[in-house]
Amino acid sequence: MKPAGVVRKVDQLGRIVLPKSLRKRYQMNEGDPVEILVQGDHIILERYRPKCVFCGSMDGVTEYKDRYICASCLSEMTQLPRHA
Ligand SMILES: [Zn+2]
Repeated sequence: MKPAGVVRKVDQLGRIVLPKSLRKRYQMNEGDPVEILVQGDHIILERYRPKCVFCGSMDGVTEYKDRYICASCLSEMTQLPRHA
């Protein structure tokens, strides 16, 4: 991890403005979900990428009924035997 060369103050509501240059560089647009991660004394921001509810994969994930499932798990599910 290296400093981005930016110091910002937290406002009354706990908000911090991310500099436009960083938003552009990391392709963060208005309304994009951002995940907050913590590691020791560090707070890390990451563009949110949905994970499969079954295996945790982030590849080929699609949304179904407010949950996310990857193509691999979806394929496995469609091959499950059906019970009457
Ligand atoms: Zn999966």
